[in-house]
Amino acid sequence: MGDTGNTRVLIAGGGVAALEAALALRDHAADRVSIELLAPEPELWYQPLSVAEPFGLGEVMHFELDAIARSLGAHRTPAGLTGIDAWRHVAHTTRNTEVPYDILLVACGALPLPAVPGAVTFRGAADREKVAHLLDEIASGEVRSVAFAIPWGAVWSLPAYELALLTAAHLDAHGIRGVELTVVTPEAEPLQLFGPPASEAVRSLLDASDVALRTGAYTGGFGDGVLELVPGPELSADRIVALPRLEGAPLDGIPQTLAGFIPVDAHCHVHGVADVYAAGDITSFMVKQGGIATQQAEAAAEAIAAAAGAELDPRPFHPVLRGLLLTGGEPWYLRRELSAAPERAPAADYHALWWPPAKIVGRYLAPFLAELAGVETPAELPATAPDMVAVEVDLDAETIAKLATSQFALEPGHREGESRVADVMSRDPVLVAPEDTLGEVAERLVQRGATAAVVGEQGRPVGILTTADVVRASAARVQPNETPVRLWMTAEPVTVPPHWPAAAAALLMSEYRIHHLPVAEDDRVVGMLELEDVRKAEMLAGTGLGAAGDE
Ligand SMILES: Cc1cc2nc3c(=O)[nH]c(=O)nc-3n(C[C@H](O)[C@H](O)[C@H](O)COP(=O)(O)OP(=O)(O)OC[C@H]3O[C@@H](n4cnc5c(N)ncnc54)[C@H](O)[C@@H]3O)c2cc1C
Repeated sequence: MGDTGNTRVLIAGGGVAALEAALALRDHAADRVSIELLAPEPELWYQPLSVAEPFGLGEVMHFELDAIARSLGAHRTPAGLTGIDAWRHVAHTTRNTEVPYDILLVACGALPLPAVPGAVTFRGAADREKVAHLLDEIASGEVRSVAFAIPWGAVWSLPAYELALLTAAHLDAHGIRGVELTVVTPEAEPLQLFGPPASEAVRSLLDASDVALRTGAYTGGFGDGVLELVPGPELSADRIVALPRLEGAPLDGIPQTLAGFIPVDAHCHVHGVADVYAAGDITSFMVKQGGIATQQAEAAAEAIAAAAGAELDPRPFHPVLRGLLLTGGEPWYLRRELSAAPERAPAADYHALWWPPAKIVGRYLAPFLAELAGVETPAELPATAPDMVAVEVDLDAETIAKLATSQFALEPGHREGESRVADVMSRDPVLVAPEDTLGEVAERLVQRGATAAVVGEQGRPVGILTTADVVRASAARVQPNETPVRLWMTAEPVTVPPHWPAAAAALLMSEYRIHHLPVAEDDRVVGMLELEDVRKAEMLAGTGLGAAGDE
């Protein structure tokens, strides 16, 4: 590998991030890399206009991947990635084959899962018929109220606002009156990631279209015309259209978060796994958006090109969020630099703030797809477009985390006499290092009679390894005495502070469907909470035998 001219780059995926990376690699290191796409589906679906399709306002474009791969001098292997053997540099596939790589880029997107039981889940092109059917039901008078719900978790919330506004415009155009439309979101403000001017603009658009708005609300299930919301009150509606919650598919031998996302550094290198990169919705970056996916893909491609010997100084990923909101009238362009101390105010305007004005802005992908589709894109900026230069500052993960509302993050209240996490946690959890082997950790778990260990780096919790992970690794026949815990742990674990009410921690465990919760204070591990301990504390409290702080 290096300047031999034949670094084998395997890109798992055939979507937005995969193609942007392939195009960027061709630009930076065409003579140094051979590119193979590992992608199960034969086509790339361009999702953004799927929102408009049921209203007859747009058409979902799709492109044949084999032809795209050929035009890039690459080839496609029709299979999905299931995991890797990091030592041998081979990828395992859904066809039970092995594909060798020098460098792997994981760009296999996220799985859209139903988030609101009982609701119509809108995942994109695949669900356009469901929305079309809903419009028929409204037209026939069968449905008089619809709520568009954004669940907590990793989502791209814009399509929910678009669906609501497009529905309102459709009803107006067809002279249908008296249908109640509502948007329900856990965001504090609509589209809060784009900043206050955009939020205000969306608020007034919703207002003008008679779409009600319920912010700061976490959705539960929907049944008998009632959508459960936390905090209450519940919402009555004939139908709920919900966005899905996104999760990453499990990939053996690659560290993933609880939701299956892959933590990466600013060059999109996967923490602790040599020669493996990730970009797009599969990464643990909280904003799941095509523009962000292409920016990560470009950062990864530059790092990969440099590793393959190309002469360039790879630039880190600087997220710039851009959005185009379809309203049924004039589309709105939104932009905000998602980093510390932006030098320009976030903007919301009727004019195109960047160019070409595609729904997914990728430096390489947008013009490439436009050419494939036979759409003309001007080579130069129009005179009216303002300066497009992004503000280049360090990532500010904290602000993004705060704004992205991807966590179940209700601030819990505390009742007199109620147990706190500190009262029921174990204060001496099994603490291991990321480079400890699976064998060593399994031995310590057995010695301590524990079922989970916190993986810490300088006292900071970076993962959790449960006995289920050890079993999973054994099933994949990895060498327990050679394999570091880092490759099989759940990365970036959800943690809870010791002062929280135990009941709130239990709610968190139930929302995340987990049995172990590391307890951290000032980013340092101070204990471990097990579901069993919380249940026991609740039972004792119920019988009056155990109160907060009882020994
Ligand atoms: C309705 C809707 C509207 C949207 N609107 C916008 C918008 O206006 N603007 C915007 O920027 N973004 C928008 N997005 C988000 C955008 O589509 C995604 O963020 C973007 O596609 C993510 O790119 P990706 O490459 O990570 O994943 P994807 O584009 O989803 O591609 C994933 C690829 O990986 C393949 N794959 C799956 N599993 C495996 C596996 N195991 N191994 C190998 N390959 C695998 C898939 O077949 C696919 O080819 C929208 C999304 C939806 C659903």
